[in-house]
Amino acid sequence: MRIAVLSDIHGNLPALEAVLSALEPFEALWQLGDIVGYGPQPSEVVARLRKESAGGVCGNHDAAALGRIESSWFNEDARSAVQWTATQLEDGTREWLAALPERATDGPFTLVHGSPRDPIWEYVYSAPVARASFLAFSTPYCLVGHTHVPLVFREDDGLVETLSPSDGSRLELDERRAILNPGSVGQPRDGDPRACGMLLDTTTMTVEWRRVDYEIATTQERMRTVNLPPRLVERLSQGL
Ligand code: ZN
Repeated sequence: MRIAVLSDIHGNLPALEAVLSALEPFEALWQLGDIVGYGPQPSEVVARLRKESAGGVCGNHDAAALGRIESSWFNEDARSAVQWTATQLEDGTREWLAALPERATDGPFTLVHGSPRDPIWEYVYSAPVARASFLAFSTPYCLVGHTHVPLVFREDDGLVETLSPSDGSRLELDERRAILNPGSVGQPRDGDPRACGMLLDTTTMTVEWRRVDYEIATTQERMRTVNLPPRLVERLSQGL
């Protein structure tokens, strides 16, 4: 089965549409949290995911928009985006978000937003954090988001190998355990502003990363219209 694996969509509908087109055809969609926050179309993004019957987990921005965690934990720009997002969620959208678990398991895959140790807040961005994370899940593979950077950590004979996938990178999943990050759809932070997503093929046990152009200016215009913080608008052009 071909599964589109997406994370950190952050209310950016044009980016989501572009990634979905680039990953087609797929039979299932898994998302790794931070569906909303930062971006100007939280409800539209949730509606699109519901249309695809997306499975997945909740992220720190989703939890904050639902009022489950204090927005004072966020920096000023993220906090004001979370507060605006909270006002935009209609009942059905809110209920759908509220039903997302912090952790999910499907076959050999564990799904979390942050890390298997701390699904909401911890970033798996380095080999030492990855080494500790491998102890916190029991399946062969773990899918994470949160860093907004496509990354792989693979256990190899007691060592942790780090890979930085780019557009078109493919990886075969073998007996080595791995933590895989698809990168961010709606707010990439690795210096490449193109939307990012991953295709997982559970028949061939391969993963492939794709980077796609989308109409960044359209999202930025919508953000300005609803008065989201200028720094959040600008960073989309830079991919930072
Ligand atoms: Zn995020």
